[in-house]
Amino acid sequence: MRDTAIGVLGGENRPFTLHQAQLVRQWSDDVVFFPHRIVLTDDERARFDARGIRVVEGEVARLTVAQHRLQGVELVDGRTVARTAVFVGPRFVPRDDVLTALGCVLGENGWVQVEPTGRTSVPGVWAAGNVVDSPAQVASAVGAGASAAISLNHHLLAEDVERALAARSHSVG
Ligand SMILES: Cc1cc2nc3c(=O)[nH]c(=O)nc-3n(C[C@H](O)[C@H](O)[C@H](O)COP(=O)(O)OP(=O)(O)OC[C@H]3O[C@@H](n4cnc5c(N)ncnc54)[C@H](O)[C@@H]3O)c2cc1C
Repeated sequence: MRDTAIGVLGGENRPFTLHQAQLVRQWSDDVVFFPHRIVLTDDERARFDARGIRVVEGEVARLTVAQHRLQGVELVDGRTVARTAVFVGPRFVPRDDVLTALGCVLGENGWVQVEPTGRTSVPGVWAAGNVVDSPAQVASAVGAGASAAISLNHHLLAEDVERALAARSHSVG
């Protein structure tokens, strides 16, 4: 998408959408932000202005597509702004039913809380990757999974040692 006409559509995830507009500005000089239902503060508007991100106010009606290619963003008032690509800020929802059913404590952000090793509040339960860390990438999710696996194995090993010790003292006793 480098150097093409990019649009960013105001989505449910307000902070992420605003960040995304600044992010894709790294790829193109031609970025238009469509606030849609987001009301920008003066500060946010100034930050867009400063980096040459154009703001087109108005409710978005639809994206126009022809021959499987995006043509533009159509507003409710009938205007169409030609765009090659449009990004939206999605709301990230962890699929953590298993963890919440087991009683794992949630953090202030509503996501299951883990220690750096991935250990949750429930003994014997570890979690890693996107289920506890929405900005995780493949590399960091894999790394967190490896750390959790090591921690989990230490936990199992400690149990084995304790069990062996108990069995030995029982037989000696
Ligand atoms: C659109 C998009 C683009 C991305 N682009 C990049 C990129 O360019 N580079 C990059 O590094 N990362 C990218 N990521 C992020 C990357 O995909 C994730 O960080 C990574 O996949 C996280 O791995 P994970 O194993 O934690 O979760 P996932 O890959 O989501 O794996 C979790 C698996 O568990 C399964 N599951 C869930 N609940 C249950 C259950 N109850 N029982 C059994 N199975 C279950 C799911 O179906 C899924 O298969 C992108 C993500 C998205 C959504």
